Amino acid sequence: MGLITIVIPCYNEEAVLPAFYQAVCEATAAFPASEDFELLFVDDGSGDSTLAVLRDFAGRDRRVRYLSFSRNFGKEAAIYAGLKHARGDLVALMDADLQDPPDYLLKMYLAITEEGYDCAAARRVSRRGEPRIRSFLARRFYRIMRRISNADIVDGARDFRMMTRPVVEAILSVTEYNRFSKGIFGWVGFKTKWLEYENIKRAAGETKWSVWKLFKYSMEGITAFSVAPLALASFGGIALCGVAVIAILFIIIRQLLYGGSAFGWPSMACIVIFIGGIQLLCVGILGQYLAKTYLEVKERPVYIVREESRHVDRADGERQ
Ligand code: UDP
Ligand code: MG
Repeated sequence: MGLITIVIPCYNEEAVLPAFYQAVCEATAAFPASEDFELLFVDDGSGDSTLAVLRDFAGRDRRVRYLSFSRNFGKEAAIYAGLKHARGDLVALMDADLQDPPDYLLKMYLAITEEGYDCAAARRVSRRGEPRIRSFLARRFYRIMRRISNADIVDGARDFRMMTRPVVEAILSVTEYNRFSKGIFGWVGFKTKWLEYENIKRAAGETKWSVWKLFKYSMEGITAFSVAPLALASFGGIALCGVAVIAILFIIIRQLLYGGSAFGWPSMACIVIFIGGIQLLCVGILGQYLAKTYLEVKERPVYIVREESRHVDRADGERQ
């Protein structure tokens, strides 16, 4: 018999929780009877009656557990806490607002148990119903991220997913403080099946993401998974030096060919640009060292093992 944990971050979700609970109960009823569930709600410092609703659920249903934060720490913190406290052999992660269709839980379960995937995740193929400007910016963001980062981030990927225990352990082994889960999910690897669906509107309540929060989230993504911005100064410096050198050569050659008095201010300008370029280049070099230090202090695991043969196990045992 297996235990499946469903982790649900909630921030001011009193309006939607009863409908969510109902829908999840219906979805879990479709699972084989051998599977047991644990619904782990993480109340991310809600200011409304979310916690009271969760207490009520927990009182009525032994499968329900909850954690309640002392203040709003953000969805990333809620995801981390949820994964850390999950006891299941399989762990699912879903939003409380019913934008993640609960009937996909069974599809994810089957992809893992029958098709042998480590992970099954949902991806929106459309962003219908979302403000235009938000979809536009989100698309740009994912495109830039894919280009400059070393994490495989799929466009339209949600945090909605189900994972096996080894995947959860791998995610928890990435202990960095500034977490960008979408990147971490891709970074840890493992075989992931992507299930596609059309965007669904929030069942009730308002989105918890203001423009400012989304902007901070995207900056978090870029800086957590790429050190490319630190290299920008070097490129700028090299380009500036190049321009200055060409201009100086131009002035010298012109002087040699045609003689006459040398240009006063253009040669000064070239020297200033050249020195500016050298300085930028040095900043860029510092940036490269900073980038290395930054990656070191994250203390991410150097590798993650997906499978090992029994032979390796025994050899380890013998050595001990
Ligand atoms: N959420 C959270 N903490 C926050 C913001 C959001 O736990 O600071 C939760 C929220 O309750 C919901 C999920 O994260 O379950 C997704 O939030 P939302 O639906 O507002 O985001 P959107 O779907 O608009 O991206
Ligand atoms: Mg939502």
